[in-house]
Order: sequence, then C-alpha cells, then structure tokens
Amino acid sequence: MLPVIALVGRPNVGKSTLFNRLTRTRDALVADFPGLTRDRKYGQADYDGYEFIVVDTGGIDGSEQGIETEMAEQSLLAIEEADIVLFLVDARAGMTAADQAIANHLRKQQKKCFVVANKVDGIDADSYCAEFFQLSLGDIHHIAAAHGRGITQLLETTLQPVIAEMAAQNDDVEESDDELIDLYSEDDDSEENQQAFADKPVKLAIIGRPNVGKSTLTNRILGEERVIVYDMPGTTRDSIYIPMTRNDKEYILIDTAGVRKRKKVSDVVEKFSVIKTLQAIEDANVVLLVVDAREGISDQDLSLLGFALNAGRSLVVAVNKWDGLDDYVKERIKSELDRRLGFIDFARLHFISALHGTGVGHLFESVDEAYESATKRISTAMLRRIMDMAQADHQPPLVRGRRVKLKYAHAGGYNPPRIVIHGNQVHDLPDSYKRYLMNYYRKALNIMGTPIKIEFREGD
Ligand code: GDP
Ligand code: GDP
Repeated sequence: MLPVIALVGRPNVGKSTLFNRLTRTRDALVADFPGLTRDRKYGQADYDGYEFIVVDTGGIDGSEQGIETEMAEQSLLAIEEADIVLFLVDARAGMTAADQAIANHLRKQQKKCFVVANKVDGIDADSYCAEFFQLSLGDIHHIAAAHGRGITQLLETTLQPVIAEMAAQNDDVEESDDELIDLYSEDDDSEENQQAFADKPVKLAIIGRPNVGKSTLTNRILGEERVIVYDMPGTTRDSIYIPMTRNDKEYILIDTAGVRKRKKVSDVVEKFSVIKTLQAIEDANVVLLVVDAREGISDQDLSLLGFALNAGRSLVVAVNKWDGLDDYVKERIKSELDRRLGFIDFARLHFISALHGTGVGHLFESVDEAYESATKRISTAMLRRIMDMAQADHQPPLVRGRRVKLKYAHAGGYNPPRIVIHGNQVHDLPDSYKRYLMNYYRKALNIMGTPIKIEFREGD
C-alpha cells in the first residue's frame, strides 16, 4: 500500500503548484471524477525516492457560509482517506479567517495533520510564519512550492513515520512480493524461487467506474450463493479481499465495489473511492478493468489505466453489458475501443455480460495468461538471441553518423518483465525502435497481458 497525502487549504495558497511538483516525475496522472469528487485530482508521486498517492482536494473558500458543509462535501472523504493531511497556508498573505475555519475542522479529525506555509521565497520565513502557530496544529513547515524548496525535508518529516508504521504492519504478514522479485532478478534458477511465485494466489483487482457492473461481475464469479453479506468495519478506502479457488488455482479477489456491503454504504460517492481503486491496483498482480459497453472508454478509465501502467500491472479489460446490442452497435463500439485503447494493445479484451454470465469464464484464461507472462522466467541466452534476431531483421538507425549497436541483454526483474539491454549509443535510440524491440520480444516470448519494460544501458 502507498501512503496517501491530501493537500488541503484555501484557494491560491499553492496546492496545485505543490501537486504538480510532486507528481512531475511521473507521467501526469490525474483523475478527475466529475460528479463524484468535484475538483479533486489524484496522482501518483515519486519524489526524491518517496512513493505515495497525492490528492489535491480543490480550494476551500472560507468566506462562504457554512464552511463545515463545504468541507464535508468536498474534502471530507479525501481527508478521511488520507494518511497525512498537508494543510497549506500562504506565508505572504498571512493568516485569514478561512485558514482558522479549516484549522478548526482539522483539529476535530483524528488525522496526522501538518501546517505547511508556502511562498517563503524572498521573505524572512520565521517572522512571517509565527502567526500560524495560533492555528494550534503544531509546527509550521516552510516551503516554496514554485521553487521546489523545503519539499524533500517536508516529506521526510511527514512521511517517514507513516511509512515505518505501514512497514511494521506488513512485516508480520508475509514476505513481500517485492522481495520475491528481487530474488528473481538475481538470475537465480533455484527451484524454490520458481516455486515461490507459483504457490502464491493471484491477486485480482476488479476496478472500474461506478455502475459498470463490478458488483454484478464479482457476484457472478463467486457464485451468488457464496457471497455472504455482512457488516464490515473499515473505512471507505479499504477494498475487501475475497479468497477463492477456481480450477484448483487460488486467487484473491480485490473487491473495490463493496459486494460484501458495509454498514451505511448509502450512496455512490461512499461506495466509489478513487483512492481505494488506486490502492487496489497497487496491491494487485492482475488488474481487471470493467467498462460499460454503452458508455465506452472515459477519460477516467484512461487515468486508471495510466496508473495501472505506471505501476507495471498486468491487465485484462472486460467490456460489460454486451447483451442486447445489435451488430451494428457492437461493431461501432469495437472500433471505438481499438482507437482509445491502442496504448494498451498488450491487454486482452473480453466482451461479456456479467448479468447473464456470458463470457465470464473466459476472463480467467486471460488473467492466468497475464500473470504467467508477468512472472515467466526467461533465460539470458534467450533474451540475447531474440535481441540479435530483432537487430538482424531491422537494424537500429544511424545517429550522428554512427550506427546504434545493441550488444547484450539480460533479465532485470519480473512482474512486470524487465529486460536490460547494453550497447553503444543506446540512449539515442528513437522511440519507434524501442517500440519495435518491445513488440519483437512480446511476440517471440509470447507475452500477453503485461507491460514489458526495457531499460537501456550504455556500454557492455
Ligand atoms: P491553489 O489554488 O491552492 O491550487 O494555488 P496555485 O498552486 O494555483 O497557486 C496560486 C498562485 O501562487 C500561483 O500564481 C502560483 O504561481 C503562486 N505560487 C505557488 N507557489 C509559490 C511559491 O512557492 N512562491 C511564490 N512566490 N508563489 C507561489
Ligand atoms: P458497480 O457499481 O460497478 O458495482 O455496478 P453494479 O454491478 O452495481 O451494476 C450497475 C447496474 O448495471 C445494475 O443495475 C446492474 O444490474 C447492471 N448490469 C451489470 N452488469 C450488466 C450486464 O452485463 N448487462 C446489463 N444489461 N446490465 C448489467
């Protein structure tokens, strides 16, 4: 699980600036879920070695009446879902009534909350920020988001304890997947290592926007009779983990839709949580994205896919509600999907009806295939041979009069498969050739359902 940081504060204090700076190192990965979350933006951050999810809660304008309602509606869920709340204030503007109203609210929350005074560039931070102690939320952290100042230090003090706490919780459970992957990357052929992967249940996250049919599908997969509906403790951001067996294989369904309903899951906003979805992707081996055939692929779907890709997750797409459509409409939907989903051409697409059960069984063939592809052992000799073949079929281009030369390839890890290629001038390889290599490896190794990462290194 990744720690979640929520950025809270009135408009213009610099939340977006900080958000952009934190998410900058990754492809912009911003999910706007209109209607559900208003102005909230979500991103995965990889800043100075720290990985976390960051949520920009949108501005809270304290001058409006009833800050409580406003807070409750806009940001309460974000705050509730966060591990850490960064409460931004503007050092230059000084303390305002809105800041105090927000502080009053935050003090009532049982949350790790930190006051962050932004825009300290070119001013005497200590004297400008002293008044914010009146907010009674502890130390004031100084940053200049626009200039990247103080951010690493801020993350260090706020994130470190949370990360340590999360690690302590994980320690008792079991060896983490990451450690297993590390074992693998050592090029160790020992049988125990190969076993380790095979023995673990495949964690399958079923994700998608509200109303696409996730609950219906989950029920269908589990067989209705086995779903026990009972009250679960926990917050909206926790998915429910359901162990299951199918054809003697073990899986854990990560149910983001809340099939096993909790108390008070009253409306769609409560039921659907972006953070929950992002965490489920993070924790899964294979992601099953459900979309509604009639709605098509939305920008939100693309954001979720972007997140899954960044995380290197295996992927299967289920186009649901494929019942009752005439052939003409089906063809139109298919070509639209091809167009929108070109960037994940490695993922299998299934046309299903969760309601009638059509096509649901075949989903697992693709889930298994994706997981096997992602964790497959590939020998150095094989990777080398494929590289040579690819190069012989279509040689790399000349750059500044010299031909780029690929010399050596070896495995760099699994889940997703990573291939490390050494050579001369490899950093000058155009993207088109990189894509060619990736597709060549994909075909030669019969890898489906998972992204492949190729890393280039200069020299032997
Ligand atoms: P938001 O409404 O809280 O998301 O605020 P924005 O991120 O949009 O920033 C509001 C304004 O403050 C913009 O004009 C930014 O350029 C400016 N700003 C943000 N960070 C800094 C900073 O560190 N120093 C200074 N001087 N200006 C900043
Ligand atoms: P969730 O919010 O993603 O969990 O979606 P639900 O499983 O609650 O389904 C939302 C609505 O779509 C419900 O009314 C379902 O009966 C309907 N639905 C789900 N799957 C199908 C399907 O395959 N075909 C049709 N026609 N309707 C479906």
